[in-house]
Amino acid sequence: MIRINENFTKLSSAYLFSEIARKIDAYRKVHPDAPIIKMGIGDVTRPICAAAIEGLRKGVADEADEKTFHGYGPEQGYSFLTERISRYDYAARGIEIALDEIFVSDGAKSDTGNIGDILSTSNKVALTDPVYPVYIDTNVMAGRAGERMPDGKWSNIEYLPCTADNDFIPALPTGKPDMIYLCYPNNPTGTTLKRDQLAEWVDYARANGALILFDSAYEAYISEDDVPHSIYEIPGAKEVAIEFRSFSKTAGFTGLRCGYTVIPKELKGVDGQGNAVSLNALWNRRQCTKFNGASYIVQRAAQALYTPEGQRQVAETIAYYMRNAKILREGLAEAGLEVFGGINAPYIWVKTPGAMTSWQFFDKLLHECNVVGTPGVGFGPSGEGYFRLTAFGRYDDTCEAVDRLKRLNLLASTK
Ligand code: PLP
Repeated sequence: MIRINENFTKLSSAYLFSEIARKIDAYRKVHPDAPIIKMGIGDVTRPICAAAIEGLRKGVADEADEKTFHGYGPEQGYSFLTERISRYDYAARGIEIALDEIFVSDGAKSDTGNIGDILSTSNKVALTDPVYPVYIDTNVMAGRAGERMPDGKWSNIEYLPCTADNDFIPALPTGKPDMIYLCYPNNPTGTTLKRDQLAEWVDYARANGALILFDSAYEAYISEDDVPHSIYEIPGAKEVAIEFRSFSKTAGFTGLRCGYTVIPKELKGVDGQGNAVSLNALWNRRQCTKFNGASYIVQRAAQALYTPEGQRQVAETIAYYMRNAKILREGLAEAGLEVFGGINAPYIWVKTPGAMTSWQFFDKLLHECNVVGTPGVGFGPSGEGYFRLTAFGRYDDTCEAVDRLKRLNLLASTK
């Protein structure tokens, strides 16, 4: 008998982006020539920069020569890359991260999803709402989430609402969670925590024996000085936090695949007898067993991002997207909408006008101006009444989308 992991059957089959694709297909059947602009899914449009392409070429040339050929590599990543990460992403900000505290991977989705392997399924989880769906779904798969309730929430998960009412600053948990997911700059809201606000979370975790799973996939988009790039900028964070990073949105690696996770050696969990156990050691064991490392040529490409040309080219790409973010922010505000995010993040979070739901607003934009975004409710109950647009589109498309939205006279249509 093939018994399945029944937790998987608890997940809803209508994945958010499939539902969006279904609605676009249905619309296209009736309007095959509609000039649809997609600003929904968070994929990038700029090609991989020249420095990284050169890194890839070098990697390919190495693989073609028996003197430089690389087969299986270290599961934790090559030191030519971890050394750059440690120096440029951490030491440059006054943070000491040892090479064996860095684990290179094929991206932050896998790592944020897999990290639960080393944590007890009896742990209680808290997360901000709305949220990157991977954190919830992987906890459902592991059996940590409990049951889905009529309001769409999971019974064992503590939701920390982030809405305009609290300026998107989540209140500290009340349910004594063991694992807390924080993502800043945030997907989907595009908002951030300032240094003193993040410090409150680190203090909370230290006082309550909780682990913070800090996803900073968008840290390269931070433009304001008082917003921390790494949770380890906060004193004491190394004892309570794991940090996830990605080259996807920074350097167009969404297809190439590379990211990394930092697990400081100070960070300890406890076993059933109350003995302290290193999470770094457990993750290392997990990776060595289940993962054979990111590919050599991709790590060569990532290494090249840390050269002066690589850094300059990455900065240009980010500036390109952040120009889009500004156009979206300002254009939608001119159209009379309430707009959040887009200053330290490539996401714009829009309040839907009047009493419109997220999906009603989605349908309106698709049908009336052929612009596609993502309904906020798809990211969690507190996303209802909001809508996400990404700045990852092409510049011309972004300008055109804003023009169309302005012409729509969105506010008048809700009266
Ligand atoms: N974390 C967040 C918050 C994201 O929004 C995304 C991608 O959209 C990821 C992680 C996944 O990144 P990667 O491409 O490195 O798997």
